[in-house]
Amino acid sequence: MIRTRQIMMDQEGVLLAPYAQKSAQTAGRRYPEPPHPFRTDYQRDYARIIHSRAFRRLEYKTQVFLNGTGDHLRTRLTHTMEVVSITRCIARALGLNEDLAEAIALAHDLGHAPFGHSGEEALNERMREHGGFDHNEQSLRIVERIEKKYPEIDGLNLTFELLEGLQKHREFYEPPPGSGELCYLNPSLEAQVANLADEIAYYSHDLDDGLDCHLIHPAQLAELAVWRDACEGVRSRYPKIEGEELHAYVIRCIIDREVEDVITTSCERIAAAGVQSVEQVRRQPHPLVGYSARLFTANQALRAFLYANLYYHPDVAQMNRRACEMLGRVFDAYLANPNLLGAHTAGRIETDGLHRTVCDYLSGMTDRYLLDEYARIFPGRVS
Ligand code: MG
Repeated sequence: MIRTRQIMMDQEGVLLAPYAQKSAQTAGRRYPEPPHPFRTDYQRDYARIIHSRAFRRLEYKTQVFLNGTGDHLRTRLTHTMEVVSITRCIARALGLNEDLAEAIALAHDLGHAPFGHSGEEALNERMREHGGFDHNEQSLRIVERIEKKYPEIDGLNLTFELLEGLQKHREFYEPPPGSGELCYLNPSLEAQVANLADEIAYYSHDLDDGLDCHLIHPAQLAELAVWRDACEGVRSRYPKIEGEELHAYVIRCIIDREVEDVITTSCERIAAAGVQSVEQVRRQPHPLVGYSARLFTANQALRAFLYANLYYHPDVAQMNRRACEMLGRVFDAYLANPNLLGAHTAGRIETDGLHRTVCDYLSGMTDRYLLDEYARIFPGRVS
């Protein structure tokens, strides 16, 4: 028997929680499409992101450490896969729509520039007078405008709920066209889960990568409640493990604790709010997915620690600074000579303006492509 789209939608109605976003209740796509015989709308969104060019480029983009500097270090792609994995676990435990939550997680970092946050800051500086650059806004721009798959339209024509999930860090969320709503205060729980899973993933794996690179030393971590609590748990079970073996297992336990805390806390908050539909979720004054107060405080301390000791560590900062100088020079070279962009990209200048066209092109590059482009434009010049 083939499990048709209709059967899957019926199963969602039975299996998912009342406050989950069911695919049968989607607000649809900007350009309406006939339904697929055996895939729901969110399963189609998921596949469209996996098959996009921007998704494939994540493999060669920096997470924290420049791409190619260590085979075990996270890249944007492996970070994204970890976010998807954590998202699935939380979404499934809360009875949410995993297809939607995972698709949002898959797309959440598509808009990142080469060279990580340093690259983003450098591009934002160059775009100061021209609307700025923000990776969250760029993720939306990629899926709505830049990806080209269909002859008649720009973008991937994703569902409203997927696009809503990419509107991160906004005060208000745009309602679907024609819904009669002015704005929502929160996105779906699926979007809230993907958003928090991103934090859980990078807190833990940046710590892991920092230890791996010896930029962070275990002795520095004793004051951090997140590390200390997990470490005590591990030592009581495995009193003899040390060094890398200990670190690897502590990182595993940190993720496990964070995920369990979010599931328990969110379940309590959902029950206390009494929400019975995704519409009610969107009208809540605050997000319902979150950490307990204790873990929230502990994570704030971890975040502060990572900023103070890893993200701006002299070794990381020096490498990023050199990379960003190259990015700036390539940006200026394109502005001065748009012919360097190639005919396809240059064709966008008329509609999008020169600065935005250059910004789109540069921000889409992988680390290595930008280095190659630098060598092409400035032959023989060492940064
Ligand atoms: Mg991320």
